[in-house]
Amino acid sequence: MGNRKPLDSYRRIVIKIGSALLVDRKAGLKKTWLDGVCADIAALKAKDVDVLVVSSGAIALGRSVLDLPAGALKLEESQAAAAVGQIALSRAWSESLSRDDIVAGQILLTLGDTEERRRYLNARATIKQLLKIGAVPIINENDTVATSEIRYGDNDRLAARVATMTGADLLILLSDIDGLYTAPPHLDPDAQFLETIGEITPEIEAMAGGAASELSRGGMRTKIDAGKIATTAGCAMIIASGKTESPLSAIENGARSSWFAPSQTPVTARKTWIAGQLQPAGELHVDDGAVAALGAGKSLLPAGVRKVLGIFSRGDTVAIIGPNGREIARGLASYDADEARQITGRKSSEIEAILGYAGRTAMIHRDDMVMTSLVNSKSERQQKDAAHA
Ligand code: GLU
Repeated sequence: MGNRKPLDSYRRIVIKIGSALLVDRKAGLKKTWLDGVCADIAALKAKDVDVLVVSSGAIALGRSVLDLPAGALKLEESQAAAAVGQIALSRAWSESLSRDDIVAGQILLTLGDTEERRRYLNARATIKQLLKIGAVPIINENDTVATSEIRYGDNDRLAARVATMTGADLLILLSDIDGLYTAPPHLDPDAQFLETIGEITPEIEAMAGGAASELSRGGMRTKIDAGKIATTAGCAMIIASGKTESPLSAIENGARSSWFAPSQTPVTARKTWIAGQLQPAGELHVDDGAVAALGAGKSLLPAGVRKVLGIFSRGDTVAIIGPNGREIARGLASYDADEARQITGRKSSEIEAILGYAGRTAMIHRDDMVMTSLVNSKSERQQKDAAHA
């Protein structure tokens, strides 16, 4: 499982900063706090650790600059607030980092920049170049153009994608909560704090409530999603409170935080990209036999597929759903949705006669597939085996 180690023993750290830490609704930017974080970042960089920042706060800062009333904003209002706030946010980071002679580079990403392979490789190359020249990338979602269908919506998962994209070995989520509890601590006095999470099991997922405040979109749910993306790729994750001055030094000095162990058998970079896709284009619903075959490392054959949902093309990412309705894997479809529907439930030897050409035997080849919930499928299979025994 690996153990916690000092921050300066990591090679590359992505730090996600929640809006509420950086922006006070009335007073605006919290400059002193930002200076403290930047001093922490400078200390890490001085020890040869690459640091990337995923900074929220554009909308919150824009709200404060424009003096918008509290409450929900319309899409175009939040886009305009982000346009105003992002300039101020980047300037603040740049000024604060420059006190230690560190250069900042602004990167604004949209969902497509990490979901489409070609754009993903392009964004990754730019970020890596910034790191190479010693700059600190300051990353945010491009909220000015993102609409609900094409947005991350929360920077927790965006930060996890950035971490896996850049091969970071640690992701730190700083927000107003100091870590994961067995239940929401403000609602349940018996809630226990979890210091180390060896694996994100369905039980751990169940502990994450849906809480989100007006200033920060991500609640614990999105943090656990981020943890899944990061740890599957072999990147550890820390959830810690950023409410203290110099929060990174505070972590080093033993402030309470939750540490999520990285997977010891991380999947390849390509499979990481597949697993981290936020919006699979379709779903393949499969039977128990297929669930068992996938668990044993086999490809998904048309015979094991019961139903095909969605519109997708060959090469698009689709989710594989077990008979209980839970996702068990993701992979790149070998067939367009229409073709997949035609060969659903049929033997691979029939494919040529049905489609008129000899396609791949598998609906999804195992090299193009990654299990997203091995734990589920395994334990359910074990239960079933026990019931049948
Ligand atoms: N991208 C949003 C912003 O900068 C924040 C999203 C989040 O808080 O997760 O305002």
